[in-house]
Amino acid sequence: MSLSFSPGNPALESVKPAANRTAKLLSAAKNHILFTANRPDIIMEKGEGMMLYDTDGNAYLDFIGGWAVNCLGHSPAVLQQALAEQAGELVHASPGFYNKPQAEFAELLTQVSGMDKVFFTSTGAEANESAVKLARKHGALHLNGAYEIITLTNSFHGRTLAMMSATGKSQWEPLFAPKVNGFVHVPINDLDACFAAVTNNTCAIMVELVQGEGGVHALSEAYLYGLRKICDMYGILLIFDEVQTGLGRTGKLFAYQHYGIAPDILTLGKGIGAGFPLSAMLTKEPFDLFEPGDQGGTYTGQPLGMAAGLAVLRELLKRDLAANAEKQGRYLKAELEGLASRYPISNVRGIGLLLAFDVPSGAAPKLAETCMRLGLLINAANAVTIRIMPALIVEPHHIDEMIAILEDALHQCFMHVG
Ligand SMILES: *Cc1c(COP(=O)(O)O)cnc(C)c1O
Repeated sequence: MSLSFSPGNPALESVKPAANRTAKLLSAAKNHILFTANRPDIIMEKGEGMMLYDTDGNAYLDFIGGWAVNCLGHSPAVLQQALAEQAGELVHASPGFYNKPQAEFAELLTQVSGMDKVFFTSTGAEANESAVKLARKHGALHLNGAYEIITLTNSFHGRTLAMMSATGKSQWEPLFAPKVNGFVHVPINDLDACFAAVTNNTCAIMVELVQGEGGVHALSEAYLYGLRKICDMYGILLIFDEVQTGLGRTGKLFAYQHYGIAPDILTLGKGIGAGFPLSAMLTKEPFDLFEPGDQGGTYTGQPLGMAAGLAVLRELLKRDLAANAEKQGRYLKAELEGLASRYPISNVRGIGLLLAFDVPSGAAPKLAETCMRLGLLINAANAVTIRIMPALIVEPHHIDEMIAILEDALHQCFMHVG
């Protein structure tokens, strides 16, 4: 990768290349990138497998995995090749035409997901928007105009205005008024509460099977079974937001396969492009309800994304990385439970490679920061929860190294050294 800056001083740069380069990039970033998040003073430059490298040459063992995105690790060869080949063939035709990788990817994705039809987008929020529109279309056509969608408290469905309304995060309630109407929030795993929330206006129930951003909380089997029953009883749609849990993350290709309960609409994102911006909304034949003009997008089914998704899915299947996620997740969880017997961490939870644990008194950000200083990336999902979501290619030796660094960090944070 080549980076350019201007105006440069080649003589000076050859004296202190790394520090100078990093300082310049940091100042450009801080001065010109709109502030939306607190970010550390480093510039990421290169990734390979489980590792990320910054412009000072520091290496990081990555257990954030691009936020549960880089399922094949960083810069996987199959993705590089698929993108390069497709870029040489056709970068973009028009959303008004079918294209070759789109046809191939649609066929494979619907086949492995048990769905019939797919609409492609670029982000998880857009896939969920599509799901909401389709559910409302169903309500308009078949349920006397019902438009309300029941979602869960503590859920996360994205950051568009409608998805911020769908998301059940109390901190978001006062933001960006007026909210998009028509979302009702009920507590997780409380079937009576959901049942009570269903009215003549309800057209769908939308859930994550394991709440990711909310801190890794799984729906119970009985609850999901109950949701399916409610939906069947009233003819309303069951939407699974598998943006985070899909594509092998939980140890099966789709988290719903753990439950044996199928959705009417399934949304995918994050891992589907392994880092290329890609998402999908899938449904069954009877809900192929949009008419021209209802839904679309400049980049829907865009050839580069389609080639990326196809290559990623083929690789996930070929290497059975869902099975690896299951196996390594078990090992990692056992190791974390081992640490929990020696350090003040608790509630080790999760499934496959979507794991979390709690730390006392709001120490999660400090622990994540300490780990980063020691060369390990983990995510503080909130003040008390650490979330772990490495690439699905992770091997036992990465886990051993991760646990060693984490133990070091736990020692520094909680055992009052020095
Ligand atoms: C990340 C996430 C989203 C939003 O995806 P974006 O690509 O950020 O729009 C939606 N739902 C779930 C469950 C997610 O984890």
